[in-house]
Amino acid sequence: MVEKVVILGSGPAGLTAALYAARDDLKPIIIGGFNAGGQLMLTTEVENYPGFPSGIYGAELIDSMRKQAEKFGAVFVNDDVKEVDFNSRPFKLKTAAAKFEAHSVVVATGASARWLGIESEKKFIGKGVSSCATCDGAFFKNKEVAIVGGGDTALEDAIFLAKFATKVHIIHRRDEFKASRLAQDRARANPKIDFILNSEVTEILGSGSVTGLRVANNKTNETSDIRVDGLFVAIGYKPNTGFLKGALDLDEQGYIVVSDEVKTKIDGIFVAGDVADKIYKQAVVAAGAGAKAALEVRFYLQRNDLM
Ligand SMILES: Cc1cc2nc3c(=O)[nH]c(=O)nc-3n(C[C@H](O)[C@H](O)[C@H](O)COP(=O)(O)OP(=O)(O)OC[C@H]3O[C@@H](n4cnc5c(N)ncnc54)[C@H](O)[C@@H]3O)c2cc1C
Repeated sequence: MVEKVVILGSGPAGLTAALYAARDDLKPIIIGGFNAGGQLMLTTEVENYPGFPSGIYGAELIDSMRKQAEKFGAVFVNDDVKEVDFNSRPFKLKTAAAKFEAHSVVVATGASARWLGIESEKKFIGKGVSSCATCDGAFFKNKEVAIVGGGDTALEDAIFLAKFATKVHIIHRRDEFKASRLAQDRARANPKIDFILNSEVTEILGSGSVTGLRVANNKTNETSDIRVDGLFVAIGYKPNTGFLKGALDLDEQGYIVVSDEVKTKIDGIFVAGDVADKIYKQAVVAAGAGAKAALEVRFYLQRNDLM
């Protein structure tokens, strides 16, 4: 059987595409990924998704989005796509357990933040440890935070966090920064920001919530503990596009190259969300792109008499 549309990913982008496609009676199949729900499953409270004045838990928001798409007939498969063939039509996709054929595809496989990889970090992700200053900065009003990283994002996020926090420690494993000179100068000029250089976080301290960090100087091997209420990790993102190499154009960082936000070089293959978004990385932006991609699916199927 050839599906009208198969959607890859079940974060805000995939679920919104699923809702629109299901309401258009396209009976979408959503191959939602082994880690169903995407990045919002890693956080607790989301305060900037419109429509929820008291905030909403990330997992609850995802669950509601999924139920809303299911109500109109979306069907979910909790697996990862391993292989695609976009060279011939219908398009072909494979998971470990099944094969699919589709007239159109929406790729919404998102991105994964790079984390430090230390054991204590897992315990606190979404509970004091975050990869998203835009999302979680406001939770740290009048608190002390640290940010790990040495690129533009780390320094710009530090300046942003200093609006809320009483103190922002920038922890960087080298004594030089990749960030632009302008970002460095602005961070250095900010009295709330200090620098802990040639240093790495080896442990996040606390029981229910973060109370501090153990930091090791990689030149002297000395360790020290600093008191913080939160840690932001700004060491990069990796788009989930490994399975697309050779099938779609990817940029040097692995993001899908798009035109008009959701179109690829192949008519019938559309893209939505963080998998093509280096800048905004927000749930509402991903959801908006999911709606656009699903509308493009409808236009494509109509143009080609495949509705
Ligand atoms: C800790 C944290 C807190 C955040 N807080 C907020 C917040 O408060 N507000 C906000 O707006 N944003 C927040 N964000 C950002 C937000 O989560 C993302 O911008 C948003 O989830 C992107 O949606 P997406 O659908 O593009 O991708 P994702 O949410 O990354 O979802 C991608 C989906 O694709 C699936 N997938 C991956 N590979 C495959 C494959 N090969 N085959 C099939 N499926 C695959 C994954 O399993 C997942 O279901 C936060 C992010 C993090 C990490």
